[in-house]
Amino acid sequence: MTERQITTKIHFCAVEELSDTEKMLLNAAKEAAVTAYAPYSHFQVGAALLLDNGEVVKGSNQENAAYPSGLCAERVAMFYANATWPNATITHLVVAARNGKAFINIPIAPCGACRQSLLEAERRQGAPIRVLLYGTNETVCIESVKTLLPLSFDESFLKE
Ligand SMILES: [Zn+2]
Repeated sequence: MTERQITTKIHFCAVEELSDTEKMLLNAAKEAAVTAYAPYSHFQVGAALLLDNGEVVKGSNQENAAYPSGLCAERVAMFYANATWPNATITHLVVAARNGKAFINIPIAPCGACRQSLLEAERRQGAPIRVLLYGTNETVCIESVKTLLPLSFDESFLKE
């Protein structure tokens, strides 16, 4: 047996350290969270994407009584962006979440399915997506979705 170490470098930032564009996107993600349809979990998530054409795309989680039929905020925003501007590049993704009363203090973590979908978008566009995961205490800043999903599955396996 051999052991290999996989390292991940992420930055924890204060909101004041974000660029003006990132602060704008954070506000957009917070606005989007309020639009969540979350009558079951009461966990409201907002996502905001910035495209290289200047468009800001917002999404929020959309739940369903048949739970698997719902969709996360990240994928609502990303699929809309990809369907509307299929040739645009996503440069940023900012995610913020409320527990029904207030924004959560720890950085929100995208689920595995969203990480996989975002990775596909990143590979499709051939450019990294800067990801900011907001918490009221601190925000995680990541340079690429790839960082969120080590040992990931992608289309290269299908060609083996
Ligand atoms: Zn998700």
